Amino acid sequence: MLAFDRAHIWHPYSGVVDPPPVFPVADAKGTRIRLHDGRELIDAMASWWSVIHGYRHPVLDRALHDQIDTMAHVMFGGLTHRPAAELAARLIAITPDPLDVVFFADSGSVSVEVAIKMAIQYWTSCGHPEKQRLLTVRGGYHGDTFGAMAIGDPQTGMHALFSRVLPQHIFADRPAIAFGEEWRDEAFTGIEDTLRRQCDDIAAVVIEPIVQGAGGMWFYHPQYLRQLRAVCDEVGVLLIFDEIATGFGRSGELFACEHAQVAPDIMCLGKALTGGYMTLAATIASTEIATVISRGDPGVFMHGPTFMANPLACAVALASIDLLLDSPWRDTIAHIEASLTQQLAPCVELAAVRSVRTLGAIGVVELHAAVDMHRIPQEFVDRGVWVRPFGRLVYIMPPYIIDDTELAMVTDAIASVLSDPPLLA
Ligand SMILES: *Cc1c(COP(=O)(O)O)cnc(C)c1O
Repeated sequence: MLAFDRAHIWHPYSGVVDPPPVFPVADAKGTRIRLHDGRELIDAMASWWSVIHGYRHPVLDRALHDQIDTMAHVMFGGLTHRPAAELAARLIAITPDPLDVVFFADSGSVSVEVAIKMAIQYWTSCGHPEKQRLLTVRGGYHGDTFGAMAIGDPQTGMHALFSRVLPQHIFADRPAIAFGEEWRDEAFTGIEDTLRRQCDDIAAVVIEPIVQGAGGMWFYHPQYLRQLRAVCDEVGVLLIFDEIATGFGRSGELFACEHAQVAPDIMCLGKALTGGYMTLAATIASTEIATVISRGDPGVFMHGPTFMANPLACAVALASIDLLLDSPWRDTIAHIEASLTQQLAPCVELAAVRSVRTLGAIGVVELHAAVDMHRIPQEFVDRGVWVRPFGRLVYIMPPYIIDDTELAMVTDAIASVLSDPPLLA
């Protein structure tokens, strides 16, 4: 199986010539991923932010069993169903006002495409077809499709390779002031000048609130978002928050924008939406945006995926959200944050380490040099944990159900692996 896999299957950002090892998974339960050889790994990644309640949670398993006995799928064009309606109602209830109209998409990247299309259709319907460009910040990540790629970080993203087919958008510097540092107004003047100068061409600002994820794992000051909201309102530019990584408690608030008490015009959700069970994303817009688009030409919003609002995905998403809201999630995340902060702090003493930061249930150890991906994952597996770094970043966002002993094993493994300089590329 492994030989076949290496030769015939693409993995994320992979090749078929001398690929780094992949580990065959037999099954997973709770915080544990069990390999074919019987070894158990403590999952520190929550399968890329998504498995917040752990694997095979009985409540989520039950929701899916019940739904599959009703119907696995039905097209959403001209038909509707209770799982979609109930999930939409829940999302509207828990996201900030004025988010009120839900578009279900198949993946995070698609939900970003949908948000971009909404912004452009909105301005076209308002009689401003010239507002087509997007403004974003460096160090962002919004997905791998063309629209999403075009607003990803121009250096670490995929711009060079695809530059001739990517739309050219406008980039401001990464928000400079870290979360928890003292705010300085001059940290906002760059993006503010750009916004004021080019607002006639700009449909929307797209940004990951507070936490920049895959583009650099950077946590920035909430005041940045407050000022961004104010200027966007003043100059007539929509504000899109990509909460795909941060949604559902990960940063310590249910949605990261709540750190700033600022609401977007359009919000993208994904990843943890279904508790990591199925692929599903959502783009939620204000009634005003939805109404303007629907009254404009051609009178509909131009997007409609085949598997839109898949009932299985909607049912498990609804169960996952209720499970989260019925739990003491705020205390749980605060506890993980305190443990991570304390346990990762000693890593700053290591020669390989440049800085350490934590926010909510996210821990980041930034290195001076990139890790060797042919060797590092094996080192973590040998220590019984699943950590998958990228580039100079060793980062973790465990399932919320992780206990103190497991978390300590993860942070011990990180300190131990990073004290071995030859493992760095
Ligand atoms: C993962 C991610 C995406 C893309 O989601 P996919 O489901 O992988 O397409 C977009 N934005 C952010 C912030 C993400 O973390």
